Amino acid sequence: MAKDSRIEWTHHTFNPWWGCVRVSPACAHCYAETWAHRLGAKLWGRDAPRRFFNEEHWRHPIKWNKEAERAGERRRVFCASMSDVFEVRAELNSWREKLWPLIEQTPSLDWLLLTKRPQNIQRMTPWGANWPLNVWLGTTAENQKHAELRIPHLLESPARVHFISAEPLLGSLSIKKWKGIDWVIAGGESGHHARPTDPEWIRALRDECDERKIAFHFKQWGHWAPELPHGITPRQKLQLEGPGRSRILYGLGKSAAGRLLDGRTWDQFPA
Ligand code: SF4
Repeated sequence: MAKDSRIEWTHHTFNPWWGCVRVSPACAHCYAETWAHRLGAKLWGRDAPRRFFNEEHWRHPIKWNKEAERAGERRRVFCASMSDVFEVRAELNSWREKLWPLIEQTPSLDWLLLTKRPQNIQRMTPWGANWPLNVWLGTTAENQKHAELRIPHLLESPARVHFISAEPLLGSLSIKKWKGIDWVIAGGESGHHARPTDPEWIRALRDECDERKIAFHFKQWGHWAPELPHGITPRQKLQLEGPGRSRILYGLGKSAAGRLLDGRTWDQFPA
């Protein structure tokens, strides 16, 4: 199967374990925690256990790698959607040690390691100044404050691709001051308690990417959208006050809100 993840920008997802601890405002409505909870698993917090997987689970990437090789393609693997690979917790060390050789053994897969703890990357990975070419390293920047804290750590590691996940975008964000960012994924928050994203924050980020030739991917509006599709009655309305003018956001739910920004989709990937 060429694609088995519902996340638009990846073919596969691989989780070395499930469970995590919240670290910043972007975690407030962590969908992984909600999803695990729905399945009856209490895996979030320092005192909660983590869930680990058997050898069959760990063989999936080997299979995906063979499929990609046979197809003569590169395929992306998002690692991890249900945890953070760089969480500090002693029992995770042996599982991390199992992940690094797996990445090296699957050169037809591009591994997207996305973390909110980039300060731990250098000491937890074995590669120092020589990273395998199939790692794309990313960090979340939900606002300027967390960009300032995390992006410098991200850029310390010489991965082939560095990316920023500005999702959910909770404040204005400028990435102009950093060199070496290859890709930005942006989006709003979904779910009942979704916080609004000002469309002007998304536009400003897109324009910065455009000026600097950084690939830009707009994933979704999430719950709140700036335009009301024909024939849809909004569940809520919200007035945002911003520089120059106020704007209305409509609470539509994720699928009605869609992913058009200024009339088109933005699905760029790094070269
Ligand atoms: S770091 Fe990721 S997985 Fe962990 S709590 Fe935050 S959003 Fe959830």
